[in-house]
Amino acid sequence: MDSAVQSHLPFITSPFPFVQYSVVCLDDLLCCVYLCLNQLGPAYQGLELGVGETVLMKAVAQATGRQLDKIKAEAQEKGDLGLVAESSRSNQRMMFAPANLTAGGVFNKLKEIANMSGNSAMNKKIDIIKGLFVACRFSEARYIVRSLAGKLRIGLAEQSVLSALSQAVCLSPPGQEFPPAVLDAGKGMIFYVKYYSGHEMPNYDAIIPVLLKEGIDQLPNHCKLTPGVPLRPMLAHPTKGVGEVMKRFDEASFTCEYKYDGERAQIHILENGEVRIFSRNQEDNTSKYPDIISRIPQVKKENVRSCVLDSEAVAWDREKKQIQPFQVLTTRKRKDVDASEIKVQVCVYAFDLLYLNGKSLVREPLSKRKALLRESFEEKEGEFVFARSLDADNTEAIAEFLEQSVRDSCEGLMVKTLEKHATYEIAKRSHNWLKLKKDYLEAVGDTVDLCVIGAYLGKGKRAGSYGGFLLACYDEENEEFQSVCKIGTGFKDEDLEQHYNFLKEHILPKPRPYYRVDQSAEPDVWLEAVQVWEVKCADLSLSPVYKAAMGLVDPEKGISLRFPRYLRIRDDKKPEDATTGSQIADLYKKQQQIQNQGKKQDLEDYY
Ligand code: AMP
Repeated sequence: MDSAVQSHLPFITSPFPFVQYSVVCLDDLLCCVYLCLNQLGPAYQGLELGVGETVLMKAVAQATGRQLDKIKAEAQEKGDLGLVAESSRSNQRMMFAPANLTAGGVFNKLKEIANMSGNSAMNKKIDIIKGLFVACRFSEARYIVRSLAGKLRIGLAEQSVLSALSQAVCLSPPGQEFPPAVLDAGKGMIFYVKYYSGHEMPNYDAIIPVLLKEGIDQLPNHCKLTPGVPLRPMLAHPTKGVGEVMKRFDEASFTCEYKYDGERAQIHILENGEVRIFSRNQEDNTSKYPDIISRIPQVKKENVRSCVLDSEAVAWDREKKQIQPFQVLTTRKRKDVDASEIKVQVCVYAFDLLYLNGKSLVREPLSKRKALLRESFEEKEGEFVFARSLDADNTEAIAEFLEQSVRDSCEGLMVKTLEKHATYEIAKRSHNWLKLKKDYLEAVGDTVDLCVIGAYLGKGKRAGSYGGFLLACYDEENEEFQSVCKIGTGFKDEDLEQHYNFLKEHILPKPRPYYRVDQSAEPDVWLEAVQVWEVKCADLSLSPVYKAAMGLVDPEKGISLRFPRYLRIRDDKKPEDATTGSQIADLYKKQQQIQNQGKKQDLEDYY
């Protein structure tokens, strides 16, 4: 690697001693970035280690000569198998010291593990882990085991890695001697790398060589939006009512679309005719929807050679010719679906076009993208249709369209700018898209997704199972789960039974060190953070007891949800994907603003 760049990468050298001493070439930088992010490649390739906790414990036991039971008990107690591995190692003595680990060596071994399949794969995986383990020095065992367990906890989110990387390449462009002569190539570029590379081509294998060899200004020429590589989707901000929409968009022209309640489907048509479908989280859903794939040639017009289409796949009742609830869609098989066995039919509601025939459209206004979408595809009832829309400009028309959307089994409306400020903002919850759900009108702007970290034993009718739960948001900055409320309403009897049966398998003897909970809110049982629930609340308030967003709004108080109501399990979200502390703080601030506006209005009316 360029030594000038190396000198600006302190972030990469922090957790792994084997990384510190070996960052010498481009391949190493790539490995280091992936190791720090605990990824094996771009997310959309879906490469996974496939090493469960038990297997990992077995490997640690075998490599250290300790008994499995002891390892298990200690891991339960410490809540971190990495620490157990590290302390077990220090008891070990070796006759011949194995060669020191290198970043590339470790990364390749991890990839090797992920690529293994077949009968004896597990034993082979254990052998590789043991091999790595015996060569560990210092704290390496801790981090290797944590990597393998998928919980690295080094206090480094992807955004920080991107910042560091951008800073390094901005401060010292390629092709210089060390120490670099150019020390500031423009701070604005940092945001540029973060925006451009992280979004249009979310693949470090492609980005890093360009940054190092060609320089940052060559990124747009090399890392372009490409069919086959999923983009992180644009999302909408919640609004509380039609009035807020009108206020926000003021003079801007906008359109209202039905907000369908299904699953986002980013449909890519590649030059070679192949069709791929990606989820909201860039997972490859191609094998889930063979029915959609087979209908694309019928709805695509002849002029379309390649494209990226944004749409919602919604469960569809063919006989009654109507939309079915989201819950029906969740019963559909997730992988390797055989088209002849499909029971839950889907209709695709297309609402955007991001790429057409070799050209990215993300910088074009929505009006143009929608026009191209309509020119490029034709509708087929119950299979592929354009999202229903209305270019309204007055409150009554929007309110009526909102009512209509709910009658037509939709969640509400998406309101989008058409001309000004109307580009497609990849990976952004943008203010240029507003969502207006029917139930926002009575509640706080939006639902939140929270992780269950504890439970309270049920009384009366709920005796013998859990009657309430402790929920937490996830704070990315501190990598911790912060308590946000107790919840006991919204559950049907079947929900409670299901939660009890599932959660009792995840009981912890004591809270994890990364749970932030006040003593006064301690639950009867602590639970491993394994499940996310969607929850609606009436209100947010400052709280001396709950820890969410602590320090963001008030130096000592956190924020809690008032009157939370359970809606459903979000098994498409990992615990770390729960609503974040800063999002909770934003919701709180927004609520305050609206309340203050209300008060101001009252005062104005009074005078
Ligand atoms: P939410 O999950 O509440 O933030 O809503 C955003 C989701 O609504 C998107 O990820 C899409 O899957 C879905 N959606 C449904 N209809 C539309 C539409 N017309 N435009 C954009 N997104 C839509």
